[in-house]
Amino acid sequence: MVTEYNGSMPNRKVTYRLYPNAEQEVRLQETLGLHQRLYNTALEERIRVYKETGKGLSFADQCKVLTQWRKMVPALAGLNAQSEQVTLKRLHLAFQHFFRRMKNGETPGFPRFKNIHRYPGWGYKTHGDGWKLHLGISGKHGALYLQFVGNLPIRGKPRTPGRPVTCEIMHKAGKWYASVTLEAGSWYEEAPTREIKPTQRCHACWKLPDEKKTLSNREHQCPHCGVICGRDENADLVLLRWLEMRLAGGSGSGREPSEMWSGGSFAAMKHETHAIAV
Ligand SMILES: [Zn+2]
Repeated sequence: MVTEYNGSMPNRKVTYRLYPNAEQEVRLQETLGLHQRLYNTALEERIRVYKETGKGLSFADQCKVLTQWRKMVPALAGLNAQSEQVTLKRLHLAFQHFFRRMKNGETPGFPRFKNIHRYPGWGYKTHGDGWKLHLGISGKHGALYLQFVGNLPIRGKPRTPGRPVTCEIMHKAGKWYASVTLEAGSWYEEAPTREIKPTQRCHACWKLPDEKKTLSNREHQCPHCGVICGRDENADLVLLRWLEMRLAGGSGSGREPSEMWSGGSFAAMKHETHAIAV
């Protein structure tokens, strides 16, 4: 039985291998190059300002400067703004690490300019802002959408499903990977509504009507099993039943729909994209 989880599970990371086509490979390389230049330019800026004023730049200062750079450099404006802030944050953390070690009386190396060949990658903060994970059937493989790059085929599978939170793109030995942080406590499923047809299908017998229902028909009356309910109510129940079957292993649990409602608490949230959090 599906029960509601309360968020006590820690976040997990799932690594997917990305399989770009030739054009996407060029765009990934271009993105990597832009982040590397952004990192180095921001480092240069910190050094310049320190030399001129004796003061350091904060992360917030650099985010403000980034806004100016995006206006002047079209290539930077083409990338996701949040992902550029993540790169500035990485530089900020390198400085924090440096100052912490100085304070401890150590002799740390000053944050360095990075070579493109060893530049590790970039990151995103919010799912849906510059990146989106589309999982395949039963949560396996699927595709990763990246702004400026497009939809990339991916391979990998989380042990348990979860809501994607952040994403890091990594370039290692010529291959591309995405490390996606999943939040535990919650499940994230995107229903393939084109296949399921929640507005057409019957939640009770799972059959489609012989004749397509029209939008003006606000009632669901199944020609097969005779069940009657509101059209929207039926669509919600179809999505819930789909989710229940998917969590039970994908191929259908064989349970009667009424059993879904007994025994566990079942909270559903339906967004415009038919994402369901349970
Ligand atoms: Zn029916």
